[in-house]
Amino acid sequence: MNSYSIGIDLGGTNLRIAAYSAGLEFLHTILLPTRLHDGWQAVLGDMAGAIRQMMERYSPVYELAGVAVGSPGPLELPAGRLLNPPNLIGWDGLELRTELENLLGQPVMVENDANAATLAEFQLGQGKIYDVDSLCMLTLGTGAGNGIVLEGKLLHGMNGMAGEGGQITIYPDGPLCGCGNHGCLEMYASATAVVRMARERMDAANAPGLTALAAARPGFSARDLHSLARTNDADALAVFEEMGRALGIGLAALVNTLNLPLYVVGGGLAEAWDVFAPWLFEELRHRSYVFRLTDADAEQVPTTGGRTRVVPAALGPDAGLLGACLLPLQNAQWKSSRKISVETTSDQ
Ligand SMILES: [Zn+2]
Repeated sequence: MNSYSIGIDLGGTNLRIAAYSAGLEFLHTILLPTRLHDGWQAVLGDMAGAIRQMMERYSPVYELAGVAVGSPGPLELPAGRLLNPPNLIGWDGLELRTELENLLGQPVMVENDANAATLAEFQLGQGKIYDVDSLCMLTLGTGAGNGIVLEGKLLHGMNGMAGEGGQITIYPDGPLCGCGNHGCLEMYASATAVVRMARERMDAANAPGLTALAAARPGFSARDLHSLARTNDADALAVFEEMGRALGIGLAALVNTLNLPLYVVGGGLAEAWDVFAPWLFEELRHRSYVFRLTDADAEQVPTTGGRTRVVPAALGPDAGLLGACLLPLQNAQWKSSRKISVETTSDQ
């Protein structure tokens, strides 16, 4: 009997629930609005309802390997306790894992959403393409998430809070971040940040391209800015230069610290790789000797072992949902295929 899993991507706007089978991929997905204004009880009720719907449909045909939720943080793991999450107002202290287990009457895994996306990219995206046992991923969306896989295992740290590279300080006097610090990577390398930087540029200087964009689309997005940059608009390109440089500075800290074979840039903003990547690499080469000595794109390096690669993600916006689906399956499926032990947050 094929096994299947149920994964949930809990977002501040949408709730996505999927049934997934390793051989068959997504069996079914349900998209619901996240009813934050109705309270967490309503949102967890919606989640449980969709999960039961999936179980009624697939449990007679396949064996259920488990249920996992990818949630925004801060989050204490493996307990699955939310700690004042900025995108889930009113959920401070919520025992997400326990509450959902009580509703469903069965075990649930809870994982940080960026970790879930990193796991998917590791197993089925760039990690698989380059056949590495370790990688570090940054997911650049509304915020800047981070996940680290070390020798086949997601790195959780002592409280489940490892991999918060989005909160690395880039410029100490930069704008105030939701985490309480100033000038975090997230304040320059996220979809929210590039829109803010474009507006600041419009206010500070004559920026005809940005002004025309804002007139045509008052609520313009990072994707709109990327389209404008691709027409060689100097101001849109300058925004992506600032973003790329900040990302390069942040990655230099990660490369110097971790010395891993692969760094992946994912999330919606990674689509603008063509316009920000040259600045990212300029900063990275300048600031990280570990990178210069191991750069996979350099013709010659003095080191004889592995090389360092920095690449855009291979998986699209479903990476987080896919990662949640992979969590319950990974012990059974992947452990045997790649002979590397994988611990999940639920079996600790
Ligand atoms: Zn921060």
